[in-house]
Amino acid sequence: MKRVARYEEVSHFDLETDVVVVGFGGAGASAALEAQRAGSNVTVLERSSAGGGSTMMSACEMYLGGSGGTALQKDLGFSDSTENFYAYMKACFGDNVDEARLKLYTEQGPEHFDWCESLGVPYKRGFFPGRDVVAMTGDSLQYTGNERSWPFTEHAEPVPRGHLPADADHNGGQVFMSVLLQRVEESGADIRVDARAMSLLQDDIGRVRGVIAKIDNKPFVIKAGQGVILTAGGFIMNEQMTRQHLPRYYPIDNPHGNSGDMGDGILLGVAAGGHAINMGEAFICVAHYPPPELTFGIFVNNRGQRFINEDIYLARMGHYAMEQPDKQLFMLIDNEHFARPAYQESVDIIAVGESIEEVELDAGFPQGVLQTTVAYYNQHAENGEDPLFNKSREWLKPINTPPFALVSYSLDILKPAIFTLGGLDVLPTGEVLTPDREPIPGLFAAGRTVAGIPRTSKGYASGMSVGDATFFGRRAGQQVASSTRN
Ligand SMILES: Cc1cc2nc3c(=O)[nH]c(=O)nc-3n(C[C@H](O)[C@H](O)[C@H](O)COP(=O)(O)OP(=O)(O)OC[C@H]3O[C@@H](n4cnc5c(N)ncnc54)[C@H](O)[C@@H]3O)c2cc1C
Repeated sequence: MKRVARYEEVSHFDLETDVVVVGFGGAGASAALEAQRAGSNVTVLERSSAGGGSTMMSACEMYLGGSGGTALQKDLGFSDSTENFYAYMKACFGDNVDEARLKLYTEQGPEHFDWCESLGVPYKRGFFPGRDVVAMTGDSLQYTGNERSWPFTEHAEPVPRGHLPADADHNGGQVFMSVLLQRVEESGADIRVDARAMSLLQDDIGRVRGVIAKIDNKPFVIKAGQGVILTAGGFIMNEQMTRQHLPRYYPIDNPHGNSGDMGDGILLGVAAGGHAINMGEAFICVAHYPPPELTFGIFVNNRGQRFINEDIYLARMGHYAMEQPDKQLFMLIDNEHFARPAYQESVDIIAVGESIEEVELDAGFPQGVLQTTVAYYNQHAENGEDPLFNKSREWLKPINTPPFALVSYSLDILKPAIFTLGGLDVLPTGEVLTPDREPIPGLFAAGRTVAGIPRTSKGYASGMSVGDATFFGRRAGQQVASSTRN
């Protein structure tokens, strides 16, 4: 398929508009609304029969803060400086952060939250202090990542930054997107569904000037006087691309996203000269909690050795699971804290015993390794210490109430949820960059189509994707609307 066609060769346009937005999920709807509000005529193309995308499927938790705190954080008594937020994010993604985009994100979080509320999305002034991926109490503020665990506690003060629509449990995406899609409709934007962008129109000097779409299976040529915004999600549903870029995650039995996550936005952007980066990174989830009491267990690999502080977020556990020999990992838990993980149904109890020695024998570990691991852990847990991995005191207790169980979370049986974190390289304005980091005139992108704020599962926290997609979707919409009409 030709993903770029020459603008000069087009003899007829089916539609002339200012801005074309490709994809009507979180990033696309945010971009369309801001561009339309700024005075541009916007046409939105959505390949499925309705807008929403993966954002609609999500809990729509947004990771926001900085500049003293969002209205929600402040109302609940938390303050959050930009420096603290930035330091935390830097600890999450290290040298792989996009400094310019992260700076903006950590400065303007409160403004973004105000925008979400101004749309009419309800947020409840309630703080959930517990350990869960999504607060099931209806409260709108919670910790969602590794804020309270080592080594992050050495870099930043823990502050809760997960912002959830009120009383929505895991259905926040439906709450948020139904409001946002309605606002876009009310703005007067031209919304086309069953409309897949197939090619970009690029002129002889490299400017992107429109799109060729398939609408109701017929070609439809659109001229975009100000520009095109690619917000078509990631590529977790595209087998050819995942095999090429994410071979170490194979087999991908549980791709996490909507069926439109085919990489169209990335492929269109690359065809026009854009640079795709971070393509080998993905979010991978090992949901070792809730319930929170499972955090009292310890994880060992197939050598019987611990490798992590268990009080971390589930995406960090996913990252470390990938690094263990044969991607095998096991939770050892005693009877006092035994429970079934709420979101990981396929775990397998592979050994039980009245003593650690019995479990070790039953599991087939070399004699003594598990006993040594547990004896060392228990000796220090007794004093509230974890000299190896600094698990927080709150979750440290000797494992000593029989019977004991060893539960396999090995990746072959777990079928972990995975979605992509690579995409187009862009400026904070959404302008798509060439490999030389030169903006391509007329081309913008946001959301999972770009390499965004979250860059690896190792530091990911719930809320970083939707926060990033909607925040930078808005900026792309504002930027294109300020462009000269061609
Ligand atoms: C179950 C689930 C729960 C999640 N929970 C959270 C959470 O709570 N917080 C969080 O931060 N992240 C969460 N995520 C991740 C997050 O939802 C996504 O990363 C994010 O919403 C992506 O937003 P987006 O706008 O880039 O893409 P999307 O919202 O997926 O929108 C992309 C749209 O583009 C359309 N499209 C694709 N190709 C074309 C084309 N060629 N032409 C026209 N249209 C096209 C698609 O059909 C889709 O509607 C979750 C993901 C899942 C699956």
